[in-house]
Amino acid sequence: MAPHLRVESPGVRYTPEYLEADYQYHNTSVWRDSKGTLVATPTSTTYTFRTQCKVPKLGLMLVGLGGNNGTTVTAAILANKHKLSWNTKEGVKTANYLGSITQASTVFLGNGPEGEVYVPLKDLLPMVDPDDIIIDGWDISSLNLADAMERGRVLDYNLQVQLKPHMKNIKPRPSIYIPEFIAANQADRADNVLKGTKQELVDIIRKDIREFKETSGVDKVIVLWTANTERYSEVIPHINGTMDNLLNSIKKDEREISPSTLFAVASILEGVTYINGSPQNTFVPGCTELADKKGVFIAGDDFKSGQTKLKSVLADFLVSAGIKPKSIVSYNHLGNNDGKNLSAPQTFRSKEISKSGVVEDMVESNTILYPDGVGPDHTVVIKYVPHVGDSKRAMDEYCSEIMMGGSNTIAIHNTCEDSLLASPLIIDLVVLAELCERIQYKTEHDQGFQRFNSVLSILSYLCKAPLVPHHTPVINSLFRQRSCIENILRACIGLQPNNHMLLQYKHK
Ligand code: NAD
Repeated sequence: MAPHLRVESPGVRYTPEYLEADYQYHNTSVWRDSKGTLVATPTSTTYTFRTQCKVPKLGLMLVGLGGNNGTTVTAAILANKHKLSWNTKEGVKTANYLGSITQASTVFLGNGPEGEVYVPLKDLLPMVDPDDIIIDGWDISSLNLADAMERGRVLDYNLQVQLKPHMKNIKPRPSIYIPEFIAANQADRADNVLKGTKQELVDIIRKDIREFKETSGVDKVIVLWTANTERYSEVIPHINGTMDNLLNSIKKDEREISPSTLFAVASILEGVTYINGSPQNTFVPGCTELADKKGVFIAGDDFKSGQTKLKSVLADFLVSAGIKPKSIVSYNHLGNNDGKNLSAPQTFRSKEISKSGVVEDMVESNTILYPDGVGPDHTVVIKYVPHVGDSKRAMDEYCSEIMMGGSNTIAIHNTCEDSLLASPLIIDLVVLAELCERIQYKTEHDQGFQRFNSVLSILSYLCKAPLVPHHTPVINSLFRQRSCIENILRACIGLQPNNHMLLQYKHK
């Protein structure tokens, strides 16, 4: 438990090893009676949450370590760790973690003599300090991280100069390269590739994970894919539809198993949480079944960093205001290597799918606006324009129907600085996934403690196309996703969710 926060409640117990909290989960059960009337009944379930207090030394292995995100997140962690500052034409800048909800956002704790009290989200429960994360990983490009950072053209030159000595000795491990899964235009950087059958490749990645853990002395490893977007894999029941079929297909060197699925399988077999920051369907059914059977966490898909993040706020605002979006058109142009890779039709298709689903749950939530469930026209365009580099431009137009046949149009121009938006999300994904590994719970119906479902839907806030367990609703609304994280962390310390009612101020 963070030293600056203690919960005093008969339901909360602190031991040297655990923080245990009893928690009443209030929900509402709804059904329709024979006359068609909706019947709502309040329900209540008793939970006990148990969080292991000791924060491990964490190792993070990035697939795509030498890319813009890989180098930027490594640089940010090292710059913060070494408390670097650098001159720019706007003055002196210092390292920080802006854009990370765990490191740079606060949550409302409660009221007292000091008035409304907010605390950093990271202080609710003991979490890994990103400064302490040890980074390793793979890339099909052999450039050391100092040169790869320069290639990325993301960070200010004076910062790069200071970081070079810390980054030049970090060299990506050779990786799995199967050309047909990414754009052909990536071939010229693939000079660091493993050879072997798919089974041999999985075995090498497993060995890499073990070797990193042993040599770096970390207690725990998480693997995160921030490599190029792959094309979708075909889901073919006898190839990848079940865990056994997937493992057999790897043995038989079947064509349709992607590099990212091989990485996910290797991580899961090593008992290591695997997070997918790109849009492709790494988690084919056989892979999710494997994670479930092995009790290993998986999370994804696709970082929600710029345009889609804003969309998951704006669409929510419009629909919940009773305004009816009729068309949402999103143009992007970007000039980094991600943009180059997305200029091929198959990889663009993965991104298009991931970006398109984001308004679906909001449409379904409002049958007054969308009685037949058909949402707005929604189009996504992505173009590669080398000149803008990592400063992706996102232009959106929202056309909505308002009262009495009126119309409302909102047009937005968003300069994203892609990797500087994605890197803090990588940190949050990893810090929160690691925390989830230390949380257990049981309800009044359970014998013993258990972990969350292996599909970590609590990380939806950070993902464009959130992966959720079967029969679980997908939530895209940013506000609801953030509340989920905040309120689950509050539950773990025995506090009720933030309900924003502020009843105490509404008395006469
Ligand atoms: P990038 O092209 O700069 O980096 C990707 C790296 O992956 C490259 O260095 C490449 O050599 C490497 N690579 C490709 N295939 C590999 C493999 N099989 N094994 C190991 N390395 C491999 O791209 P980026 O801007 O860092 O983005 C990375 C990913 O994150 C992309 O898929 C992108 O779509 C996704 N993403 C980025 C953002 C953002 O805002 N930056 C948001 C959402 C998703």
